Amino acid sequence: MRRFHRVRQKRSARQKQQRHTFSIASIVEEVQDAMCYIDFSRCRLYSNDSLREWYPSMTTQSFDTLETLTRYVYSTLERHGADSAQVMHLIQELLECATETDPKMTSRRLRFDDKTLHLIFNFTRTPRGVFIMWRDQTEAVRFEERKDSFLAELSHDFRTPLTAIHGYTELLMTRHQGSEKSYQMLTQVKQESERLERLVDNFLDYQKERYTADQLTVTTFALRPLLEDVMSSYQTTSPLHTVTFETNDVLIQADEEKLRQLLHNLIGNAIKYSPDGGTVHTSVFESAGTVTLSVSDTGIGIPEEALPYVFDEYYRVESAAHQAIKGTGLGLRICKRIAEAHGWGIHADSVYGEGTIFTIELHTRQSCPLLPSPKHSVSFD
Ligand code: ADP
Repeated sequence: MRRFHRVRQKRSARQKQQRHTFSIASIVEEVQDAMCYIDFSRCRLYSNDSLREWYPSMTTQSFDTLETLTRYVYSTLERHGADSAQVMHLIQELLECATETDPKMTSRRLRFDDKTLHLIFNFTRTPRGVFIMWRDQTEAVRFEERKDSFLAELSHDFRTPLTAIHGYTELLMTRHQGSEKSYQMLTQVKQESERLERLVDNFLDYQKERYTADQLTVTTFALRPLLEDVMSSYQTTSPLHTVTFETNDVLIQADEEKLRQLLHNLIGNAIKYSPDGGTVHTSVFESAGTVTLSVSDTGIGIPEEALPYVFDEYYRVESAAHQAIKGTGLGLRICKRIAEAHGWGIHADSVYGEGTIFTIELHTRQSCPLLPSPKHSVSFD
């Protein structure tokens, strides 16, 4: 009787396993996207027709160990032109996940010679395994690359005539003998060409990804002259706005040109998004090794629900008041990248309809944790 019971138990376990095997195979087969399933406990790989169209040898099959299974996946992908370092990293993560209690893996792009695939992972507990969805993103990536190179060319073609306009205007200003009014007009042309140059610089730098820590040219300099220089250019060109600033005499360690770009982006925005005028105020305070720089305005503000997204690429607030003002949605993304490259925090606060304040925590010369030693230093005496 006991023997009979044991036989029944075994049979039902086998049936269960068969049912299981059948259901995983059918799930994988029935999905339209390319898909596979790796069963960690039984060392079995399942694949569907769509995946086998790309990788015919990747059939549903069993292996002796998980290592032989992953080695097989590695060699198949590598043979089809995948980046070996990327695949190695992927396999390592999969193997680590195979033993974790609550495994999670972020989706990722995998580059092959002729295509780019996006992999999405979904782990299962019983049996322990992972569904991997393979989405073809070749066209989307090609489109992105074409768009990037088009923008880079466009920015470059813009830059050449702008440099000439800027240069000749300066020349005309130094040789100027006409009226005060015509001198003011030349000043306006020079400042507008500088503004356009900054816009183009934003694009060019963005395309070339010039915003990482190792791309910075770090020096130690006084913040006040930089602020005076930046603020004065807005004081003359923005008659509707009261442009003010206050600062302690602090030395900071940073890439001066990048910080200038960041300030122009924030102050330019503060003026742009205060179309009826108002006060744009920049302040700098130092406390316990941290310099807090803030740019505030009394403009149209940002709705609370939009605040988490304003630093995202190409993001623009969707209100009628914002849409009426032209922009690219790149300025704040660039600010964030510049801040992150320096190890600074940046964030935005706003009361919709009343105004916005952007705050950055800079490091002083003494407190800078990330940056190499300064190339030159400036003192105040
Ligand atoms: P844009 O070129 O569109 O100004 P940004 O990346 O500089 O791009 O800003 C992203 C979005 O954040 C803007 O489109 C705007 O909606 C909002 N924004 C940025 N700065 C301000 C500000 N000072 N006041 C109100 N809205 C702002």
